[in-house]
Amino acid sequence: MPILRRIVIAGLSAVLTATTLPALADAPLLKTQAPGWYRMMLGKFEVTALSDGTVALPVDKLLTNTTADRVNGLLARAYLKTPVETSVNGYLVNTGSKLVLIDAGAAGLFGPTLGKLVANLKAAGYQPEQVDEVYVTHMHPDHVGGLAADGKPVFPNAIVRADGREGDFWLSQANLDKAPADAKGFFQGAMASLNPYAAAGRLKPFDGGGEGVELVPGIRAMAAHGHTPGHSLYIVESEGNRLVVWGDLMHVAAVQFAMPAVTIQFDVDAKAAAPQRKKNYADAARKGYYVAVAHVAFPGIGKLRADGRGYQWIPANYQSAP
Ligand SMILES: [Zn+2]
Repeated sequence: MPILRRIVIAGLSAVLTATTLPALADAPLLKTQAPGWYRMMLGKFEVTALSDGTVALPVDKLLTNTTADRVNGLLARAYLKTPVETSVNGYLVNTGSKLVLIDAGAAGLFGPTLGKLVANLKAAGYQPEQVDEVYVTHMHPDHVGGLAADGKPVFPNAIVRADGREGDFWLSQANLDKAPADAKGFFQGAMASLNPYAAAGRLKPFDGGGEGVELVPGIRAMAAHGHTPGHSLYIVESEGNRLVVWGDLMHVAAVQFAMPAVTIQFDVDAKAAAPQRKKNYADAARKGYYVAVAHVAFPGIGKLRADGRGYQWIPANYQSAP
C-alpha cells in the first residue's frame, strides 16, 4: 500500500475510534487558583506578597470627585468593566531577625470571597506563630479582619503596631455610638480585630508624623493620614533598595493612576487623601522604588512612571527563584 494511503487510513480509523469511544479529555473544570503568594528579595530582606482573595467592587458607584461615565471610560481602556474584581493583599517581610506582616486581610468581615491570607501564609512556608510584629496601615475590615478569630489573636506571639490616631478613632466606643447605622460595622470590625491584642497589652501605638518612626531596623512607619485618621505607609529598606507599602493610598488602578484626584467613598477625609496620593505617586516615580499596594491586582508590587498628568503602573518583573 502506498505510504500516503496508509497514513490516511490510519488517521481515518483514529477519528472513527475517537468518535465511538468516550472522550479522554473530560476532566472536570477545577476553578481554583494557584496559592496566592509571591516572593521577591529586597536587598537582604525577603518580601512575600500574600493574597487574601478578590472581591467584586462597583467602582463606578464608589469612586468620587469624578463621574460614572469617566470611570467607565477608563475601565474600558483597561479592558475592564464594573464591578471590578479587586485584590486584597498583605505583605510579609522577613528581615532576617524579625518576621513582620503588614496588613492581615479581611477574614470574614468583607464577604465570602476573602479571608485566604493565613492559608496563603502557610502555603508560603510560614506559620502564624512565627510572626513577630503586625503593622496595620489602617483599621478598615479588609486590612485587620484577619488579626483575630473567635475573639482570639490569630498571631499569638505578635505585637500589633498602628498610628495612635487610628486606634483613637476606630476603637472609641463614643465614636461607635455616634456613627451612622451604615458605618457602625467599621468600628465594630476594628474593635473585634484589635481588642484581643489590646487586652493582652500587645497593641502598641506609634506616632508616624514628621520623618516617621523606625519600628524594626529597616522598616519605618510614615503618616499618610486622610483615607483614615491614622492611615500609615511602611517604608521597607535594605542595602539601598526600597519598597513602600501603601495600604489604601489608592484603590482602583485603572482609574486612579491616570487620575490621581479621584477619591473613594471609603475615604474618611477625601480632601486630605487626594494630596497624600499625589505626593507619594510623584515621589515613587521620581525615585523609582517599588511600591506594594493592597488593592492593585495581586501581587500588587510594581513601580510608577509619570505619564502626562497621571502615572503608569509597571508591575514587578516575575522571577521564578528569588
Ligand atoms: Zn482597603
